[in-house]
Amino acid sequence: MRIGIHTSTSGRLVNAAVKAKELGANCFQIFSASPRMWRAVMPPREQTDEMRTYREEHGLAPLVIHDSYLINLAAPDEEIRRKSVAAIRDELLRAAAIGAEYLVMHPGSAKDDTVERGIGRIADSLEEAARELEVSGVTLLFENTAGAGATIGRTLEELTELRSKVEGRVPFGVGFCLDTCHLYASGFDIATEKGLNETLADAGRILGLERIPVIHVNDSKGPLASRLDRHANIGEGHIGLEGFRRILNHPDLAEKAFVLETPIDQPGDDQRNVDALKSLCRKRRTTTRKSS
Ligand SMILES: [Zn+2]
Ligand SMILES: [Zn+2]
Repeated sequence: MRIGIHTSTSGRLVNAAVKAKELGANCFQIFSASPRMWRAVMPPREQTDEMRTYREEHGLAPLVIHDSYLINLAAPDEEIRRKSVAAIRDELLRAAAIGAEYLVMHPGSAKDDTVERGIGRIADSLEEAARELEVSGVTLLFENTAGAGATIGRTLEELTELRSKVEGRVPFGVGFCLDTCHLYASGFDIATEKGLNETLADAGRILGLERIPVIHVNDSKGPLASRLDRHANIGEGHIGLEGFRRILNHPDLAEKAFVLETPIDQPGDDQRNVDALKSLCRKRRTTTRKSS
């Protein structure tokens, strides 16, 4: 199974991989620049090489990059949208240089405009950002949101509409990342067996399970349908340990990379969350599963 966690590149790119390995993870997520600043620099070749070598040696895959929190391709404000286009272009370039398999992005917020027009602006902006870009190894993943305010991506329908508007207009693959906290906060009751089965059936029908390579595993401080984006440690929120046991062992999710984005309130919380996920995974027998 692929169990991972968001780690820090502070000091040097490879530090994030070393930390993931130390924590016992076999995949991980990073920010490729400060997520709260517009300015970003390309990591030097020496550091990207070092990252590739370390990941190969230790079998750390996939590497997921999370985009900057400032980027909003759906923004009705033209200056913010233009800055966002430049920033997502740089995110894609850095992801390719670092060798990341996935770039996860928040679709954005239409603010006081309609969701429909917001989705249109995201698609147009991505096409603009991707012009003459050579980043074929990277797949862009739209992350579902907790649904606060006018954020796009609260429903599976919005996510799939977004993908269908973008597909064919950009020179890279486009898929999805589902965040368990955001699912729960936006009203999908994945804490129960029935709710999880229904959610995954809907995700399969609407998004296609094969288009969801990454699951963000976060417990939820906010109750069901609260639209609160507050991540809790595994077992300390409303989804709970039994909820995560079912999620991690669900046959529909067997091939997915599970990546933690849990808070570090106390030293050691990162290790405890990785350990918690591992302890919930059932040992799978190697059987030939029929491919769907
Ligand atoms: Zn996110
Ligand atoms: Zn997330």
